[in-house]
Amino acid sequence: MFSNYKFTAAERFLRYIQIDTQSDPQSSSHPTTEKQKDLSRILADELKQIGLTDTHMDEWGYVYATIPSNTNKEVPVICFCAHVDTAPDCSGTGVKPIVHKNYQGQDIVLPDDHSQVLRLSEYPYLQTQMGNDIITASGLTLLGSDDKAGVAEIMDLANFLIKNKGVKHGTIKILFTPDEEVGKGTAKVDLKKLGADFGYTLDGGEAGSLEDETFSADGVQVIIHGVIAHPGYAKGKMINAMKIAGEILSALPKDRLSPESTEGKRGFIHPVRLDGVAEKCTIDFIIRDFETAGLKKKEDYLRTQIEELLRTYPKASFEFIVTEQYRNMKEVLDLHPQVIECAKEAIERSGLTLKMESIRGGTDGSRLSFMGLPCPNLFAGEQAIHSKLEFISIQDMNKAVETMIHLVQVWEEKS
Ligand SMILES: [Zn+2]
Repeated sequence: MFSNYKFTAAERFLRYIQIDTQSDPQSSSHPTTEKQKDLSRILADELKQIGLTDTHMDEWGYVYATIPSNTNKEVPVICFCAHVDTAPDCSGTGVKPIVHKNYQGQDIVLPDDHSQVLRLSEYPYLQTQMGNDIITASGLTLLGSDDKAGVAEIMDLANFLIKNKGVKHGTIKILFTPDEEVGKGTAKVDLKKLGADFGYTLDGGEAGSLEDETFSADGVQVIIHGVIAHPGYAKGKMINAMKIAGEILSALPKDRLSPESTEGKRGFIHPVRLDGVAEKCTIDFIIRDFETAGLKKKEDYLRTQIEELLRTYPKASFEFIVTEQYRNMKEVLDLHPQVIECAKEAIERSGLTLKMESIRGGTDGSRLSFMGLPCPNLFAGEQAIHSKLEFISIQDMNKAVETMIHLVQVWEEKS
């Protein structure tokens, strides 16, 4: 099926990553940065060139497109989704991609900062990439495989399906979103307009991996109210809110319940921001657990710790504000087992070993799942994301395209 096809994912990827699309967590506009539209506009144009007539970018920077069905069967409408923005953690300005052909296990020293070295010993996944072509940035920026790999792969899928009419499939929807990295990827999405039954985000790592679980997530804001007085005459009166905040933070367990001490299925309580003066101090926490009930337990634990501490400061008080962020998408996916079953079958048909994984984070897919579009996460090949050592292989990208091509056929066959 693929012998006469020249994959275009890598060629597209190398162009897209040179367009700066970093999102901004401090911004309240949609998209959070206008520059994300620079890429979205190009994607809409290229989809039109490929031949998808209804393609457009809306005012919020979302790109919608349809690959029409070419079968007589009634097939559920499947959406492939990827995000155009890159993480605020690491610069995405002036990305200079380098293709390291025929990788043989050597250290890859990035030319613009020789302290950035990609080593097999530190990134064991490289063991699976012998003979492959690895793409990195030059040492000063991230690469942007998260998630421009997913974007480029979906673009190539569209190109393939338009050129290979013999491959039977139902209606396929394409969705590119802004602002995933700042948790706003679905803020302005129009699922009615999209009109899909099930979706897949292309935003994962290892070839063959499929993620059907994410954290459940809440934010907790703790506001500590102290008592202010003139420091010269404060004896017995002043209660410094910042000092209480310091005690709260230092009382957090050091060997458990933190991101730096947990992995696998264990969740955590993580302070992410501290803001204050002597009179009033605010600590923002994120709470994570795979079980939604586990979130509540961690919140109760934190609240109890603070209550006990504040007993020693009767004139101080605190507020404890819980905000729901997202929920484990497995709760929704378990109701639609065919979404995972079809993806497993497609991965196996691509000759890959299936690896079921859970994400210690959230995705657009977790939000979309709860908005009515059950949406697990398929691998896109991205590695060492949000860092200057980020890398991806051209071969993994092509495998992701191949997997999607199998996937649309599996849905058609099973319908
Ligand atoms: Zn991503």
